[in-house]
Amino acid sequence: MKYYSLNQQAPEVSFEEAVIQGLAPDKGLYFPKEIKPLPAAFFENIDHLSNETIAYEAIKQFVGDEIPEGELKKIIAETLCFDFPTVKVEENIYSLELYHGPTMAFKDVGARFMSRCLAYFNQNKPHQKNTVLVATSGDTGGAVASGFLGVPGVDVVILYPSGKVSDIQERQLTTLGQNVRALEVDGVFDDCQDMVKKAFLDESLAHLNLTSANSINIARWLPQMFYFIFAYKQLRKTQKPLVVSCPSGNFGNICAGIMAKRLGLPILHFVAATNINDTVPEFLKTGKYEPKPSKATLSNAMDVGNPSNFIRIRALYHDDLEQFKKDFTSFSYTDAQTVDAMKQVYDQTGYIAEPHGAVGYLGLKEELKGYKNAVGVFLETAHPIKFLDTVEKELNITLPIPEQIQTVMGKEKIKKPIKTYDELKDFLNALS
Ligand SMILES: *Cc1c(COP(=O)(O)O)cnc(C)c1O
Repeated sequence: MKYYSLNQQAPEVSFEEAVIQGLAPDKGLYFPKEIKPLPAAFFENIDHLSNETIAYEAIKQFVGDEIPEGELKKIIAETLCFDFPTVKVEENIYSLELYHGPTMAFKDVGARFMSRCLAYFNQNKPHQKNTVLVATSGDTGGAVASGFLGVPGVDVVILYPSGKVSDIQERQLTTLGQNVRALEVDGVFDDCQDMVKKAFLDESLAHLNLTSANSINIARWLPQMFYFIFAYKQLRKTQKPLVVSCPSGNFGNICAGIMAKRLGLPILHFVAATNINDTVPEFLKTGKYEPKPSKATLSNAMDVGNPSNFIRIRALYHDDLEQFKKDFTSFSYTDAQTVDAMKQVYDQTGYIAEPHGAVGYLGLKEELKGYKNAVGVFLETAHPIKFLDTVEKELNITLPIPEQIQTVMGKEKIKKPIKTYDELKDFLNALS
C-alpha cells in the first residue's frame, strides 16, 4: 500500500516509510491511496471469526506485503491481548469498554501495534536506531511507554507538563526504565507539543530518526478500526442499526471508525462528542473551521483546540460537507453536564463512567432521540481509576485499584525536569 501526504507536497511512501517518518516532510498527515471494502460475506459471517482474524482482514490491505502474514498475525495477537466487551448500560445503550489493556486506556491498541511494527522493521537493521518522541497530556505517555518498553533499536522520550497529569498517569510513564525516558516540562501541554514539533524540524537531530507516536502515525491510528468491528460483532444480535458515539479530542478514534465503515462495516451514524473544546461541533454548525487554543476540562485527554485528524476525515468525504453530515453529528458538553451524566448513569444503572465516557454517553443520548429503532454504543475510552479524583468525589465511592495500576504504584518515579528546547536537545544528543 502506498501512502500520500494530505498536503500533496511530498512523495508517496510505503507503509514502512510512513510509520518510520510519522509525519510527511511537507508536514502533512499520511493517508492510504486506496481503501478497498471487505466482501459482504465477511460481515455476514462475523460471528464465526475471532478478534485476531477480524483484525488481520481489516488491516492487511494497509500493510500489504511489507510484513509477512505470519509476522503480522503475531503482531496482532500481541496487540489484542485483552478484552473489548460491550456492556449494557440501559435499554438500547451499550458501553464499549476499551480500557482492559495494560495502561487502561484505548491508546494501548495503537501503541502496541505501532511498537511491534517498528520492531519488525528494525530487526534486520542492527545499526538503525529510532527515537520515538511524544508529548502527552496524560494517557498517550503511559500507553507509549508500556507499548515500546524493551523494543530493540527504539528509544522513547516522553514529554509531559509538570503538575498537569494525574499521579497514576505520571507513574505509568516514569517508572518503567529501560529504553523509556520521561522529561517533566515546566509548562503546559502546548509547550511540550511545541518542543516536539520543533525537534522534528531540527536538522541537527536528523541522526536520531525521530518519529511520533500519537495518532498522526498511521500505525497508531489504523488499528483503532479493530474495535468498532468487535462492537458490531457483539451487538449484531440486537438486529438494530448501530449508532456509535466517540468522545473525541484529536479525532483519531472516530476517524478510524469511519475507515471501518468504508471497509463495509454497517454503522448507521457516528457522533463525535466533545467537551467545551468545540472546534468541530462549531464547524458543523457554521461551516467555518476555526481552531482555538485548548481549554482545560475534566475530560483532559480531549482538551484539543485543533484536532489533528480532522483533516483525514475531510479527506474521507472529499470535503463534501452535506455528505459528511449524513454520517456524522457532533455535540459539545460542559464539565457540569459531564458530571451530571456520570451521576445520573451511576444512580440509575450502577454503571461507573469516567468523564470521557460520560461525554460520549451524552452525545449518544442526544443523537438517539432522532431514531425509533436503533441501538447505540459509546466508547468508554479509559478506566475510571485513571480519573480517580473526579470519579470518587462526584460519585462518592471508593474505587479498588486494578492490578495493572498496582504494579506501578510502589515504584520510584524517574524523570528529568526541563524548561527549554535547548535542554531537550542536549538530552536527545546525549542518547546517541
Ligand atoms: C486520547 C483520549 C481520547 C480522545 O481520542 P482521540 O482519538 O484523540 O479523539 C478520549 N478519551 C481518552 C481517555 C483518551 O485518552
